[in-house]
Amino acid sequence: MKVFMRKRVVIIGAGFGGLSLGIRLQAAGLDVTIIDKQAYPGGQAQPLRQGGYRFDMGPSLLTAPELIEELFQIAGRERQAYLSWEKLEPFYRVYFWDDTYIDYTDDPERMKAQLARFSHHDARSYKAFMERSKAFYQAVIAEGLGRRPFTLRELLKFLPRAIRLEALRSSYSLAAKFFKDERSRFIFSFHPLFIGGDPFRAPAVYQMIPYLEKAGGVWYVRGGMHGLAQGLARLFTDIGGRLLLQTEAQRIKIRNGRVVAVQTPAGDLPADMVVSNADFFHTYFRLLEPEALSSIVRWRLRQYQYGMSAFLIYAGLSRTYPEVLPHHTIVLGPRYRGLVKDIFRRKVLPSDFSLYLHAPSRTDSIWAPPGAESLYILSPVANLRSGISWSDAARRYQEAILTSLQERLLDGLQGAVQTVSVYTPEDFLRDRNCTWGSPWGIEPRLIQTANLRPPNKSYWVKGLYLVGTNTHPGAGVPGVILSAAATAQVILQDLGLSNPASTPVLIYE
Ligand SMILES: Cc1cc2nc3c(=O)[nH]c(=O)nc-3n(C[C@H](O)[C@H](O)[C@H](O)COP(=O)(O)OP(=O)(O)OC[C@H]3O[C@@H](n4cnc5c(N)ncnc54)[C@H](O)[C@@H]3O)c2cc1C
Repeated sequence: MKVFMRKRVVIIGAGFGGLSLGIRLQAAGLDVTIIDKQAYPGGQAQPLRQGGYRFDMGPSLLTAPELIEELFQIAGRERQAYLSWEKLEPFYRVYFWDDTYIDYTDDPERMKAQLARFSHHDARSYKAFMERSKAFYQAVIAEGLGRRPFTLRELLKFLPRAIRLEALRSSYSLAAKFFKDERSRFIFSFHPLFIGGDPFRAPAVYQMIPYLEKAGGVWYVRGGMHGLAQGLARLFTDIGGRLLLQTEAQRIKIRNGRVVAVQTPAGDLPADMVVSNADFFHTYFRLLEPEALSSIVRWRLRQYQYGMSAFLIYAGLSRTYPEVLPHHTIVLGPRYRGLVKDIFRRKVLPSDFSLYLHAPSRTDSIWAPPGAESLYILSPVANLRSGISWSDAARRYQEAILTSLQERLLDGLQGAVQTVSVYTPEDFLRDRNCTWGSPWGIEPRLIQTANLRPPNKSYWVKGLYLVGTNTHPGAGVPGVILSAAATAQVILQDLGLSNPASTPVLIYE
């Protein structure tokens, strides 16, 4: 008698990449266990409670919600029973160095009117730039390049079009081609920073994000981004998946060149396939026995370069700032290219800042007591290759940021702080095993894009796969959800099973 054994898959990491892949594989009939060392699912999207205030610690804005809808469709469940979200208007406000600002929105007429205040030429260029952004979006999202493993064949097919669309030049230089005013150049080139990239060397193909935002919107999820992670975790367990939190993978065990189990403090979890949603170097250099890889492979893997990190302040304020702070705000310092250079190349701590501020109390009352504000401040900083000791620098850096914000925008800020904590690159390393304290992982530059990112399926260890930030297509919540589609495709192909989700569900025209 033939006994059908369901293939056992262990996913290390319950970030959005791990959870999305877990849902896809469990829905396809595999026996999936997700483990994570942290106490909550969501990876970077951890929750924080402090005094009477709540914070989303990591991601804060949702784009491409259709990718989440797709997961519910695959699992055969009603999304509305788990999650709800609402569109934000404006998407965000950007304050420039000269204290002018723009409310970034999907309304083309409003965008053009605002750009015209900087330059009539730039207002006229908006449409043409968005068309270019749409062309990138069509290749990566609509035609599915972002949701399948990126092979050399795909690259050769895409290359002539990429060259024609100027997708390989830097994001900034593409913006500079369309726009004259430095403020317009900023707002149409900074998007790679959302995914841990340097706008001056991330290829322009990442400039599909402006179109993705324009066509699909920027959303607030009720309960925040950690609420989104909880919703996906519930979906995964409701369809039969097993989620083990506070369970750290110590080793990926290999027999005869093939994965057989994941070792945890509570014992071994047998596995036919292991997928790592954890950091790339951590996976290859800490979780595998050194003998699992040849020295040439180890050398090759060490060539990957990590991108930036972040310094975060979570402050509960006794007052609100409705006139100057919409839900999402970017406050720019005097330097753009120089600051980015300090962060990515020189790796020094600058004395000027460009900050991202999240004030979710603007949209929802759950985050702070009445009349109070939950404020999250993100300063992009160099990763730990900088050699900065954050236990020494954190306090001073926090004070410098709060002083600068008080002087520039938030009158009386320092006196209003009721409760405050910070999160530094050292915390990313300690809590989430992010190499060099870099939560965005391998930097999205030309030589680390598409098939030049670590592959979704390991070339070197049989039965090992990757999902999330460090593999194709890359960081950001939409990126890692797409990576789960790509990894699911290879796993199901390897098992000779059909892929229930090979066709994109929703495309904006
Ligand atoms: C501060 C910040 C703000 C951001 N803002 C946005 C935003 O607004 N919108 C957006 O789209 N993106 C945003 N991003 C990017 C986005 O959050 C990430 O790209 C995405 O969440 C990464 O998901 P992931 O699944 O790849 O991995 P991660 O979220 O990094 O999860 C990996 C998980 O693996 C676990 N792990 C590691 N090692 C082990 C081990 N040995 N055993 C068990 N578990 C292990 C970790 O604990 C972690 O939970 C932001 C990122 C940060 C850091």
